[in-house]
Amino acid sequence: MHIAADTIALIGNTPLVRLKGPSEAANAEIFAKCEFANPGASVKDRAARFIVEDAEEKGLIQPGGTFVEGTAGNTGIGLALVANAKGYKTIIVMPETQSREKMDTLRALGAELVLVPAAPYSNPGHFVHTSRRIAEETQNAVWANQFDNIANRRAHIVGTAPEIWEQMDGRIDGFTCAVGTGGTLAGVGLGLKEKDANVRIALSDPHGAALYEYYAHGELKAEGSSVAEGIGQGRITANLEGAPIDTQFRISDAEGYEWVRRLLDEEGLCLGLSSGINVAGAVRLAREIGPGARVATILCDTGFRYLSTLYNDEWLAAKGLA
Ligand code: PMP
Repeated sequence: MHIAADTIALIGNTPLVRLKGPSEAANAEIFAKCEFANPGASVKDRAARFIVEDAEEKGLIQPGGTFVEGTAGNTGIGLALVANAKGYKTIIVMPETQSREKMDTLRALGAELVLVPAAPYSNPGHFVHTSRRIAEETQNAVWANQFDNIANRRAHIVGTAPEIWEQMDGRIDGFTCAVGTGGTLAGVGLGLKEKDANVRIALSDPHGAALYEYYAHGELKAEGSSVAEGIGQGRITANLEGAPIDTQFRISDAEGYEWVRRLLDEEGLCLGLSSGINVAGAVRLAREIGPGARVATILCDTGFRYLSTLYNDEWLAAKGLA
């Protein structure tokens, strides 16, 4: 019998599931990493753990210290639970547009929550810049800086990628996911290429993000918008630098949402919209590679985090997704 030594040891080693509907739709084999099975119910627990342990190893944080971070919510939840397990505090800065459930979860975990209006990155009031300022003004505090701290992607180079490789017995043709910080896509991409340089790595970019145009035509350019939380990047973060991207897709909210609905109704998986966008991208990548392609992607977080939004008919109607 295997017993985890503590909460931190529960992070990672998530199950891989075969997705029936997407596999049939693509005439391929589509597999997904169940990141909602992490203790904080998202892929970001992995980055949170590596960022905290990196700060400890570098002697940046003292006992009882504080981690400060700007986040769409999931990184905050991961940081708060890792911090609680290790005796640190957290101050989490979040745009007020994110789901109510994430805010309630952060408060329940004891994080000090700072809500700021949604603003462009160039605005000093943007949640990332606000979190950096708070970290500078707080004693014995570390700014987690998930976008440009490459401890984030290391979690996926040494964790997620080898896990996928082993779970698929080294028989994998492609991997895709969307980008928030880029830690998952760049980290899994680098980790899988280390095993086999022929694995095709694809970006699945939501509308409103600038990366599709960048990887397709060399120019950071955004078009449209998305209501997906946690994804949609407008710049090349340090985590994205050198990411081995072979191909890219632009995925609409409607295309991603169709998979969210089908995975719930047909396979009993309750997911967030970024997971739906990833699955839509996996179907496209498998079709591009050809019949029988074995493609992996990420189920980033649990749909229970979006009961008031993605699973609420009024909200869906207001966002044009009903
Ligand atoms: N989906 C969700 C729901 C997220 O919270 C995040 C993290 N911001 C991502 C996807 C993207 O992950 P990454 O930061 O590794 O690019």
